[in-house]
Amino acid sequence: MVGARGDLSIYRCEECDLEFEERIWAQRCEDHDRKYQACSIDIARHAVMSKNT
Ligand SMILES: [Zn+2]
Repeated sequence: MVGARGDLSIYRCEECDLEFEERIWAQRCEDHDRKYQACSIDIARHAVMSKNT
């Protein structure tokens, strides 16, 4: 998990590259990905929709 980016507090799951505003979700996502080798829809729905800027 990586921390704040610029002036935004964005946390990125290092396993699947989803980005979250809340650290807890990024952490849960990583834990889930490592455990099940797959993303969870229930976690992904909390992700920030990337604008790819
Ligand atoms: Zn993930």
